[in-house]
Amino acid sequence: MVVLHLPRLLSFSLSRQTYSISKRTLTTLLHPPKSTLTTSEPNLELISTTITPKPQTLSLENIFIPPNTNVTENARILNGSNILLSNYATDAQIIQADFVKSSVRFEDCPSDGLPEFALVGRSNVGKSSLLNSIVRRKKLALTSKKPGKTQLINHFRINDSWYLVDLPGYGYASAPQELRKDWDKFTKDYFLNRSTLVSVFLLIDGSIPAKKIDLEYARWLGENQIPMTIIFTKCDKRKKKKNGEKNGGKKPEDNVNDFQELIRGYFETVPPWIMTSNVTHEGRDEVLLHMAQLRNYWLKH
Ligand code: GDP
Repeated sequence: MVVLHLPRLLSFSLSRQTYSISKRTLTTLLHPPKSTLTTSEPNLELISTTITPKPQTLSLENIFIPPNTNVTENARILNGSNILLSNYATDAQIIQADFVKSSVRFEDCPSDGLPEFALVGRSNVGKSSLLNSIVRRKKLALTSKKPGKTQLINHFRINDSWYLVDLPGYGYASAPQELRKDWDKFTKDYFLNRSTLVSVFLLIDGSIPAKKIDLEYARWLGENQIPMTIIFTKCDKRKKKKNGEKNGGKKPEDNVNDFQELIRGYFETVPPWIMTSNVTHEGRDEVLLHMAQLRNYWLKH
């Protein structure tokens, strides 16, 4: 199948802002969504106000610069991210998405050598919603939500040329210790051995302060030098501060910044990150452009 180059996506996403780089500082707008906050999670207490975007300053050392990319005066940062756009960001649009197979072991995954991105995150982080939003389908994600069911690696072929991989969620409060160990081995084997894995997309809930299990996960990926992109989800909302809570009630931008600080020591170079919302679809185009530039670079090297 022919993978079409659709300039609409590029011109829409990229023309929104141009950034000028002066010396070591780059100013960008982290773009939290504009909508009034809503949620489909009845248990979460929310502050029902609109989050106002505020200008953020990214110093050069906090920007993810894709390989083979020069930082010039006209360089652009993807909205709501720390990612510099490179010439490799082409063919970003998804035209076709098909479920291919579920594998129990990494050895059983497709062997056609196409590049792939694996989505992983704590249960309830919004992984299925993000996957469905990326491919613009109501129900493509298959990962079982019930701990105790078989853990599977689900492959979706995109445009007949690359894969999105849905991995089981981690951190089920109710999962027995044994199952957590299984999960660990299952996914770690995949991360360590899958040669066509271009980047793990680690999903982190941007509406709440960092969780220990997420920090541990990021640390493991960093220490094992597995390429990682952080996708902050639910950036349209923030959790209400409860009595006695130190960190509650922070804005998504603050949670994003705090998370960076907490994982700084685990990585040699700053990992790329993008703020997203499945409610407003903020960040969707940026995720696709980032995947495109990583993928196209990977294919040429
Ligand atoms: P998964 O367990 O990681 O696959 O998470 P789901 O995609 O099933 O989402 C878990 C819950 O979070 C559901 O109630 C979703 O409606 C909600 N959710 C997912 N993404 C967002 C988001 O971007 N914003 C808000 N406000 N809620 C979200």
